[in-house]
Amino acid sequence: RLVTQQSLSSQEEAQERALRPKLLDEYVGQAKAREQLEIFIEAARRRGEALDHVLLFGPPGLGKTTLAHIMAREMGVNLRQTSGPVLERAGDLAALLTNLEPRDVLFIDEIHRLSPVVEEILYPALEDYQIDIMIGEGPAARSVKIDLPPFTLIGATTRAGMLTNPLRDRFGIVARLEFYSSEELTRIVERSAGLLNVRLEGQGAFEVARRSRGTPRIANRLLRRVRDYAEVRSDGTVGPEVADAALSMLDVDPAGLDVMDRKLLSAIIEKFTGGPVGLDNVAAAIGESADTIEDVIEPYLIQQGYLQRTPRGRVATPLAYTHFGLSAN
Ligand code: ADP
Repeated sequence: RLVTQQSLSSQEEAQERALRPKLLDEYVGQAKAREQLEIFIEAARRRGEALDHVLLFGPPGLGKTTLAHIMAREMGVNLRQTSGPVLERAGDLAALLTNLEPRDVLFIDEIHRLSPVVEEILYPALEDYQIDIMIGEGPAARSVKIDLPPFTLIGATTRAGMLTNPLRDRFGIVARLEFYSSEELTRIVERSAGLLNVRLEGQGAFEVARRSRGTPRIANRLLRRVRDYAEVRSDGTVGPEVADAALSMLDVDPAGLDVMDRKLLSAIIEKFTGGPVGLDNVAAAIGESADTIEDVIEPYLIQQGYLQRTPRGRVATPLAYTHFGLSAN
């Protein structure tokens, strides 16, 4: 899937890094989260303490990793990055923790996917900056306490609801990232265009922005594809007509929905008479994993009012019917 692939190729990762804002001032939007963090960072810095542990949650591509890097930079400390599924054994986490310097940031992406044994190690580390590890095996085995430097854990997750309660309770700062407005995304597209030497014209940036599912990662990705189109089919300048033609070619429709969005909505409407339908049933019907539907596809459709999650299942709203030129009854 072009616009919401979750695992990025290394080339894409490098491209993303190049466009990543480095300071809080360059970070567009998310006014609420930004204001909170600005204050807590400044306070921790003045006291010379580690920032309290931070949980960032929201759909993929909204800037959680970017924000974690910015926080470390604003604190003037190093950031170590890992992810929940990568930390398989308790020892993996212990090795990371014991290598931290005072006030460093440990960033764990997909923190809802930590294994229970790793999570056990994390609790005392977060609470008392201490870990208990077992040395040796059998009768000679003994547990050793190791002191850690004060550090900040920044956890990122697409779903705060998937975290266990004891883990969630250990975050002093919880920030929810929201979808971006078209105006905010326009600023992001303009900034990226400047870095990529793309010439914009008229409403070109806005056209890309408003069709990017409220998501900076998608805006940047579409900008690169639109630039390709503009270079091959015209003189390289991205104006509204070129942007529209390129986005139509990429199957991003005028409302900004992509192939998977439409596939999901039309399956609910056509195969399940508009719902309610259970997640697993729609997942089977469109051949997509339930996780991808829940994390990647649905949040934007719900926010835009095309879809509702009810206790009995997913329901297509009248807006979804209108989108396909149908009427809801
Ligand atoms: P997440 O970790 O939530 O999946 P990332 O932090 O990797 O998302 O963001 C994806 C890309 O979107 C980044 O490379 C960055 O260029 C861009 N981006 C995200 N948030 C912002 C923002 N607030 N301002 C500007 N660019 C952003």
